[in-house]
Formats: sequence, C-alpha cells, structure tokens
Amino acid sequence: MATIDAFPASLGAKTQAVVETFDRYVVPNYKRYPVCLVRGSGSKVWDAEGNEYLDLFPGWGCNLLGHCPEPVVRAVQEQVAKLIHVPNTWYTEPQGEWARLLSERSFGGQAFFCNSGTEANEAAIKLVRLRTDGKRYKIVTFKGGFHGRTMGSVSATAQPKYHEGLGPMVAGFQYAPHGDLDAVEKLIDDQTGGILVEPILGEGGVVPAPEGFLQGLRRIADERDLLLVFDEVQCGCGRTGKWFGYQHFGVTPDVITLAKSLCAGIAGGAMLTTVELAKHLRPGMHAATFGGNPIAAAAGIAAIEMIERENLLDHVARIAEIFRERMEDLKSRCDVVRDVRVFGMMIGVELSIDGTAVVQECLEKHLLVNCTQGRVIRLLPAMTLSAAEVNDGCDRLSDAILQVASRS
Ligand SMILES: *Cc1c(COP(=O)(O)O)cnc(C)c1O
Repeated sequence: MATIDAFPASLGAKTQAVVETFDRYVVPNYKRYPVCLVRGSGSKVWDAEGNEYLDLFPGWGCNLLGHCPEPVVRAVQEQVAKLIHVPNTWYTEPQGEWARLLSERSFGGQAFFCNSGTEANEAAIKLVRLRTDGKRYKIVTFKGGFHGRTMGSVSATAQPKYHEGLGPMVAGFQYAPHGDLDAVEKLIDDQTGGILVEPILGEGGVVPAPEGFLQGLRRIADERDLLLVFDEVQCGCGRTGKWFGYQHFGVTPDVITLAKSLCAGIAGGAMLTTVELAKHLRPGMHAATFGGNPIAAAAGIAAIEMIERENLLDHVARIAEIFRERMEDLKSRCDVVRDVRVFGMMIGVELSIDGTAVVQECLEKHLLVNCTQGRVIRLLPAMTLSAAEVNDGCDRLSDAILQVASRS
C-alpha cells in the first residue's frame, strides 16, 4: 500500500475499499495519506469516515477561496449547462472577459490560456525561443526553483532530484544560485533569450527574492535584451494580498505564468505577456485544446469578482498578521522554529527538525498542512480563512511542533 505512515492506526471500511481500488488500478506515482476526502466547504474538509479537518493547504494551493466557494460553484453550474467546451477556432464570451480582467489587474497585456502551471511555463519557454526564431534559446533559471513536470519545465527546474532517471534534459537551461546576480551575468551569452524566476519560491521553501534581486534581473534583462519571465503559478492571483507577487517588489516582468489558484480549484493556467511580445506566439506554433475553455473561464472570472466583492486582498493582509504574530510567538518559545516567512496566504515555517513528522502530528490533530524541502512547514490557506480559524490552526500547529520537538 503506497500510503504514508500509519494514520489512522486502522482504516475505516469505506477508506479501505477506496485504497484497495487505487492499489489495483491507479499508477502509484504519488505518496498518499490513508484518508479519503469526500466533501469540503471553506477551510473545512471531511473524509469518508465522517472526520472533519481544518485545511490550511486546500487543494495544494489551488483552492484559493477554500473548498466549493459558492460564487464559483454557481458560475460553473450555470456555464456547464450552457456551453461546456468549444475549440479555440471560435470566439467565446467568457475567455475574452477573463483575459480582460487579468490584463487590467496586471500590466495591460494579453493572455494565452492553458490548463496547468507546467503548460503555462512551456508557453513562456516557447515565447522566449520564438522571439529570436530559436537563435537565442537559452534561459537562465535558479537553484531551488520549481516550474513543473513536463520536459521543458522540469529542465527549467534546477533541482537534481526532479531530473533523476530521466536522461538528457531539454537543452538551453542554465542554473544560477538564487539571488546571485553576478552568476546570472556570467551565464549570459549571445544565445541567451530569457530569465525565468519565481518572485517568491514556493516549493523551494516559501523564500522571497532577496532585496534588489528582481530589480537587478530587470536591469540585466533590459541591458541584454532578454525576456524576464516570472513564474507566479504559486504566488499569483491574490494569494499574497496583491494580485500578483511581482507587485510587492516594484518590478514589472515581460511575462507571467499562472495556474493553481487561477480558477479557484478548477483546472486552468495562463501566460500573460505584453501586446508586442504576444505576436511571437504566432498561429500554428502553440496551442492548448482545452485552454481558456468556458468552464475554466467562468470559474476564473467568478474568483476575481469574489475577491473584489468581499475585499479579500485586504482581508488576507489582516489575517496574515495573525499568522505572523502567532508563529513569531512560537519561535520565541521554541528553538526548533528557525524562521517564519509570511506573504499573505503563502506561509513558510522553517524548522531545524524533520517537518514530515510535524505534518503527521497535525494530521492526527485533524489539521492539513504541507512540508516542503524537508524542514519547511508550508501553508497555502484559503483567502476566506477567518481569524478564528487562523487561531485554531495556529493552536494545533504549535502543539504539533512542540510535541515533535520534545521527542527529537
Ligand atoms: C505547482 C507549480 C508549477 C506546476 O504547476 P502544475 O499545474 O502542477 O503543472 C509551476 N511553477 C510553480 C511555481 C508551481 O508552484
């Protein structure tokens, strides 16, 4: 059974049956907790045995507005009864409207739609290459970054563990240490066409670009005529309390890639770029059959409208402060807490001990969190989280960390 550790000690009958079906019929490429989730609402989720959990990592960062946010559910239900899918050879109202809303909240460019983060990055990689007819195909990326699992995006991901056993990577990616502008300058030659970076590393441990780093990349990109691409698949779409991560740093990129939160739980991805650069992704050179489909568009539009109607960008900034205070307080009392990094609803608590044991302990307390890079507890909570839920979550998380710390 490809399940993680032993929670709960014995599986309930319903869960047992589902696990057996998976064991027989589903490719075992994921480690799964022995819990079968059946229903969710806001930041609560229930398993097949009727247990309730507080979810501070809903949908691996996709469920930006929590489980089954009512306006998104309604928009999808209405759209699915009207028009589910038509190919991109036709115009549809939702796709155009969605692109307009994204453009107006970013840098006024145009959108290419796809279905996932890795696809958004593939589009950006192609755009970089197409701009110079493939002559300047090299792209500088950063150690600790994460850009996806398709061959282009995984080649862009400068983490050896994701390359193991895959043989040759796609040519042209050059890896610099995160934050090191001198290394970037040294890597650039006359075949370099772009720089790809996450403004806040997500999978890499919730690590922001160091002071001046993105400004430096912007300067280098301008001097050397390179495209500056920001992968905002994890930090974009309002999660950090601004629409896009780059807006915290005062640096405007040429391209941003979006997915995860983009449609509040429905699959969807996008690449945004300037009108001028968009021309290079010319007809026939790139496509995504399902990209920008009416369901994803309806969900994407409903998410943006809900965030604005309910003032969730401001709300996020406020409740992020509670997380910060609570986790800083824990840090002052518990020396296994090394660092607390809070960017709205993107939170990393770096420990000096193994974080997977903490995740396990949280699960026992019916709290869902994530661990990345071995020692960073990562939370990507819903923007709709209440102050009471933050405090409840911080109580359980603090207890879990203290318990694991006392055992180690
Ligand atoms: C998750 C992630 C991706 C990959 O997105 P998928 O939708 O899983 O393909 C790419 N970049 C970043 C920063 C991510 O967090």
